[in-house]
This record gives sequence, C-alpha cells and structure tokens, in this order.
Amino acid sequence: MSPEPEEARAVFLTNARVVGADGSAPVDALLDGGVVVELAPRGELAPPGGAEVVDLEGRWLGPGLWDSHAHLDQWSLVRRRLDVGGATSAAEAAALVGARLREAPPAPGEPLVGYGFRDALWPDQPHRALLDAVSGDVPVVLVSADLHAAWLDSAALAAHGHAGHETGLLREQDAFAVSTAVSAVSDAVLDGWVGDAVAAAAARGVVGVVDLEMSFSLDRWARRVRGGVDQLRVRCGVYPHDLEAAVERGLRTGDVVPGTRGLVTVGPAKIITDGSLNTRTAWCHDPYPGLSGPGASGVASYDQGDLVAWMRRASSAGLVPAVHAIGDRANERALDAFEAVGCRGSVEHAQLLDASDVARFAGLGVVASVQPEHAMDDRDVADALWAGRTDRAFALASLVAAGVELRLGSDAPVAPLDPWVTMAAAVSRSRDGRAAWHPEQRIGARAALLASVDGQGLVRAGRVADLVVTEADPLAADDLRGFPVAATLVGGRFTHRTP
Ligand SMILES: [Zn+2]
Repeated sequence: MSPEPEEARAVFLTNARVVGADGSAPVDALLDGGVVVELAPRGELAPPGGAEVVDLEGRWLGPGLWDSHAHLDQWSLVRRRLDVGGATSAAEAAALVGARLREAPPAPGEPLVGYGFRDALWPDQPHRALLDAVSGDVPVVLVSADLHAAWLDSAALAAHGHAGHETGLLREQDAFAVSTAVSAVSDAVLDGWVGDAVAAAAARGVVGVVDLEMSFSLDRWARRVRGGVDQLRVRCGVYPHDLEAAVERGLRTGDVVPGTRGLVTVGPAKIITDGSLNTRTAWCHDPYPGLSGPGASGVASYDQGDLVAWMRRASSAGLVPAVHAIGDRANERALDAFEAVGCRGSVEHAQLLDASDVARFAGLGVVASVQPEHAMDDRDVADALWAGRTDRAFALASLVAAGVELRLGSDAPVAPLDPWVTMAAAVSRSRDGRAAWHPEQRIGARAALLASVDGQGLVRAGRVADLVVTEADPLAADDLRGFPVAATLVGGRFTHRTP
C-alpha cells in the first residue's frame, strides 16, 4: 500500500496568531501539499498565484485535534437517541420521553430510543405503564447506562416478542437482544448518521480519530470516504476476533487504505484485558468494598501467557498493540506484557495505577491513552469503589511528570466526541460547578493540548496542515468546555468553516 497524500489547492492564511508561540504577533501561513510550507510574520510572504487567500482577522491558529479512543458507529447511533441519563426518577425519565415525542417524534413506524438511565437510586420503579401514558402507539425503548437493562413501553414489548410483560423492564440477555435489535440499521442509514457525526466532530476542530469500534471498520470507512465522508483521518482498530484475517490481508498499523486519499489507515490491535469500574470488574490489587472470594478484586480477561502470545503475534505482524487495562493489577500486567514482548503500543484507559507503574510507562515507551471526562462521570463511584486509592486514579499529572506520552480521548459514546470537553476535564478536573476532584492531578492546558494532537506538536513550518482556527487562545481560556471553533482543516483542506 502506498501513501496517497491529500491533493488540495494551496491555501494562504493571513493575519493569524499561532497558539503557543512566543508573543502573539500576527503571522501568515502557506499551506500546500498537505503541509504548512511556510510560516512568517504578517506581510513577509506573498501568496502564490492560484492560492486561496483567507484572512483570519487575528484569530488563533492551533494544531488540529484528535480523539485517541472513540467508537464511531456507536457514537453515531447514540447521538440520535434521547439522553435520559439526567433523570432522577422513572417518572422524570417518562416525562423526557413525552417531551421528545411532542417536539420531535420518530418517523411513522420507527421507535424512539433513549439511553443512559440509572435506576438503582430512583425512588420509583420503571414500568411500561409510565411510558404508555406518554407514548401512545409509538414503540419506546430506553437502554440503561450500563446496557444491562432495557425499559420498554407496551408497543415496543409487542414488537420485540415480550407482549404482556409484567413491568416492561427487561434484564441481561433480553435487554441485550433488544438493544442489538434497535441498533441494527442498514449500511446506508448508518453511513448517513456517521456522516452527520463526522461533520459535527469537524465543527469541533477534530481532524482525526482512533476508531476502536469492535467490528472491523476498515472497509466501512473506505466506503464512507469514497461516498464523501472525508472530514476526518480515521485509524481503524483490529480486535482479536479479526486479527488473523487482518494478518492474512497483510495489514500493518499505519498502512494507508487505497482509495481513501490517505485518510483511512490501519490502527492498532486492540485487546481488552479487564472489565470496568462501575461493574466492579476492573482488575485491581485490592478487593472492592464488600466483595470477597473469587472476582472480589475484579476480573482478568486473559491468562498472562495468552496475553503475551497474542501481543507478540500482533506486533510481529506489524500491528501495534493497544491494551485495555483499567484496574491497577491489569495495568501492571499489561506493562509486564509489553516488557516481555519488547514492543511499543498503548494502554487504553490506565484509570488506576500503582505509583511504581507510572514510571514504567515512560521506561517502556508505552503511551497512556486516557479519557479524562470519565473521571468526571465516575468520581463518586470511584470514591466509593476505590476508596482510599483515588489519589492514583486518573493520575494525569503523575503521568506527565514521569515523562509518559499521554493521549487524550473520549471513548465516545461513553463521553461526547468533543476534545474540548476532554481537555477541560483534564485541565480542571471539575464539571457542573463542583469542586475539582483531586486537583493535584490536573494538567496544564498546554499539556492537554499536546496530548490531543497525535504527537504532532504545535503549528510550525513543515508540520502536517491539520489545523484548527479558534476565536480565542485555548492556552489562556478559563473554561475549555464549549470553546468556539471557527474553522478546521485536514491536510490544508477546509473541513469546517463558520460563514
Ligand atoms: Zn472504548
């Protein structure tokens, strides 16, 4: 596979201020052949003939943003759904459904799908009657935040083979089956929704994502780019069930997929080695409060020998491992495996770390691929389930201080695919006006930005022309949530532009 660089008309950006540069004197920038060819004080360069000249009127020119861990198909589905995550009772969730049905009902015959409810602490019980009262004959399916429950109205119960179910609250396999069924849309429909999500990401300054969708996405992305969804660079992860097929096709991490103008590349080989915090399955050194016996400290998904063998197989075939590890024990074993194999790669999540393992990331050259907004979602859960240990949970400042290469991501749909939200969480460790959670683990805005640009640094001559234009200086912002983006360029081509 040979690289296929972006073919784009030269662009001459005039009167820009460069994010992170000494001083804020305006500059002009010439973009051509996909890179920043020249950067000079304003007025020193002449735009070449044929170049498109764009006056940035003193706006800020920064590096384009990456989301280093996202699930694009899932995100595209979820962003069309009703978010009931804020409901504090079943009645309130039903009211949100009613409001949506009045304001924006689904097309005739289509269900209304909502997600994110957490009923453990609700004062009332989810019941189909609550939904029936607002939904009439529209099928309504609400999927719980942890995906292990689904709450249906009578129309949806009938449609999914549970007519007459007593409460309408399905659990486990029944719930999984319903949520799988409502996620099954045609390729054409899904590509359209992904196109919307990609355009929305570009409007937030995103130039690239590592797509860790669990089904092999490379061919889907090639199809989408050919169909005009071309605002992002996409690296497509490979999971264990697809590893041998990928090796057989000769796919290596970093290879450009033909026909995608360099936008779609083979991503890392992803393997999940433990569970998650909320389900008490993240694999830890210490047991979860109140649990005892096997599994009390979480769950290892693989025998260590099998993990090492799999990583060796992937890396010897040219596929760089990305190892999901959340608990401190899982992280230790992931680092042990990187050491045994002798390869580079990333640990995905790295949520709870033993202090001695922080420096090992740097020593082994393993990237910590972290999702700071999860700390805002899970701080109360962590305080409960990792009580006495949260000083080393989401330990971003410790990682930066140890010289570890940090990459930020959203894990969308778990958190929104918006790097400004992600960076805000890393910089402030607060949300919704709450006091910062372990403020000693905050990182600076510059560190957060540098962890969000795929290791490509700030804007300078010779750099790939993946850029974001903002109204203000992100390194001087009070709050990065909702930070306004004026324009985004990928390979020197505008992928978003406010009028
Ligand atoms: Zn993920």
